[in-house]
Amino acid sequence: MTVYDPNNIFAKILRDEIPSHRVYEDDAVVVFMDVMPQGQGHTLVVPKAPSRNLLDADAATLGPLFQTVQKVARAVKRAFAADGVTIMQFNEPASGQTVYHLHVHVIPRFEGVPLKPHTGQMEKPEVLAENASKIRAALAG
Ligand code: 5GP
Repeated sequence: MTVYDPNNIFAKILRDEIPSHRVYEDDAVVVFMDVMPQGQGHTLVVPKAPSRNLLDADAATLGPLFQTVQKVARAVKRAFAADGVTIMQFNEPASGQTVYHLHVHVIPRFEGVPLKPHTGQMEKPEVLAENASKIRAALAG
């Protein structure tokens, strides 16, 4: 049985119970930096509505979620002068999901630079803060 656990780490971030490097927030979504980035500027777009993943999500959640994914993808491409952007989203452990609140990965990509491992090394807080500020600026401009 796969049920939504309201104490998962992203639910705690959404409630501001644990810190994150936030990039953007509106009524439907919160965007923050992934602490173990697979590439420079790896960002997570997280709907406020609770669901484990795409499989149990309310369809009404997906429009606003993917509108923000597109905005963030454009912003990170500009912020880091990236060559491309990878969008990833995992559903259940067999797929690689490790945090059970729906989220979409937005990762700037550079020609010839492979992705680092999923949930690999923690990034320094000052680097995450600087990258968050670059993306905020790109979103604003
Ligand atoms: P999943 O494997 O569920 O698709 O992705 C979960 C992502 O959340 C991973 O990329 C991982 O690096 C990231 N992550 C795990 N714990 C934290 C945390 O406490 N804060 C942030 N900002 N990201 C986290």
